[in-house]
Amino acid sequence: IPVDLFDLVIFGGTGDLARRKILPGLFRRFCAGQMPDQARVIGAARSEMDSDGYREMVREAIGEFGGGHTFEPAQLEAFLGQLEYVAIDALGEQGWKELQALMAGTERVEAYYFSVAPSLFGEIAERLQKWGMADDQARIVVEKPFGRDLETARALNKTLATYFNEDQIYRIDHYLGKETVQNLMAVRFGNMLFEPLWNSQYVDHIQITVAETVGVGGRGEYYDKSGAMRDMVQNHLMQLLCLIAMEPPARFSPDAVRDEKLKVIRALEPVLPYHVVRGQYQAEPCNEAKNPGFRTAVGNPRSRTESFIALRTEISNWRWAGTPFYLRTGKRMQARSSEITVVFKDTPHSIFAEDAGRHRNVLSIRLQPNEGITLGVTIKEPGPGGMRLIDVPLDMSYAEAINPDDVEHVDAYERLIMDVIRGNQTLFMRGDEVEAAWAWTDPIIKGWEARNDVPKPYDHGSTGPTDSTELLRREGREWRQVT
Ligand code: NAD
Repeated sequence: IPVDLFDLVIFGGTGDLARRKILPGLFRRFCAGQMPDQARVIGAARSEMDSDGYREMVREAIGEFGGGHTFEPAQLEAFLGQLEYVAIDALGEQGWKELQALMAGTERVEAYYFSVAPSLFGEIAERLQKWGMADDQARIVVEKPFGRDLETARALNKTLATYFNEDQIYRIDHYLGKETVQNLMAVRFGNMLFEPLWNSQYVDHIQITVAETVGVGGRGEYYDKSGAMRDMVQNHLMQLLCLIAMEPPARFSPDAVRDEKLKVIRALEPVLPYHVVRGQYQAEPCNEAKNPGFRTAVGNPRSRTESFIALRTEISNWRWAGTPFYLRTGKRMQARSSEITVVFKDTPHSIFAEDAGRHRNVLSIRLQPNEGITLGVTIKEPGPGGMRLIDVPLDMSYAEAINPDDVEHVDAYERLIMDVIRGNQTLFMRGDEVEAAWAWTDPIIKGWEARNDVPKPYDHGSTGPTDSTELLRREGREWRQVT
């Protein structure tokens, strides 16, 4: 079903994110028939080029990053025909008049995607207003990072609030656009089975892992100022934590969901220094030129920024008091894997012989790769061996349950962009949520700065520093394997 007629202006329309994600995503929505024929996508960036030049750039980007999706050449031509380009200076006056002329007098959804450095967010918002494009129907999409601490996030919220209402601001966290994240809510709130067990009485602990095999790549300079806490934990892992821990919202509507998420963040316990492990990856042995260590990769031999973090926190409310939540994320790890794991408690008493074996129920919600949900259940080992218990997965992965040919693949970005056009903010972060997340993160980071904390080295392709294993081991637990 096509969404309403729209004009989407992409500030930074020539940048890496636009070429890799936004434009190929829009093209996929176009091919799926969701983008109306008269809708326009307007690239706005610093490079001097005309609309034809932009179309060529986008053609190449789709060729490179289109991602295994088959289409007719005519479809690509038709999509390119809906693109325009304006060379614009976010810090000056160039191009604004042209953009204003393009946007004037159209009766359609107007969305402005800020896919530029955060230092330009305020500048663009101000100019949109100055040139009459910030009416109360306009929507803006804001990329991460949203501030680097509470103070800067507050300032940014304040600046945006000068020109736009909260219901016009879409703060993107692409983790929320993932299919399994939404499925997590369907599983939690669509089944009677799980919710009664979803609390400290039945859940032993919860783990959230986002492991990457890549290093900092070309983002070294940015990453050295950011680190895993700011780049991953404050936003992506925190959002996943909220969705797994929140109370059932009264309805699946933007503010009802976001109110519940906010309550989780506000109930988070401060993290004690010995409940955090920071790490920095080492070079790959014998392959240092290809896979250098973190400090070389960011060009700072004295860097104390973390590329890995593991921490333990608790949520002080009736549902979760006393249940540990372990969060972990890192670069250059053994495998690429994003997973939330709910480990249930032991049965109160085993009626079977001690050597029968005993297993805990584990619900694992996998975001990537191989999205899906698996519940480990204990059964009798089939065969004549007597009563021996084994753990088998009750699998809810799409590949098994649903014919994959029937499932239309929708990337997180394209889903979220369509939500912007539909005016649905459920999967976007509200300003107060972002601030609350920083208010929890700031003291942890300030503590490291005050102590001159040095991250622990860890091997390329490992699971992080050994202290991370110890963080759980000393409480009689262990991390799920990263596979
Ligand atoms: P980029 O450096 O590749 O592109 C920046 C874009 O901004 C270019 O199109 C450039 O022309 C434009 N620009 C720069 N200065 C300008 C000015 N004065 N006036 C007008 N346009 C100007 O950056 P990117 O990697 O595409 O990232 C864009 C935003 O998205 C950033 O906020 C980044 O943090 C965020 N982000 C990027 C990724 C990613 O994978 N690249 C992922 C998540 C978030």
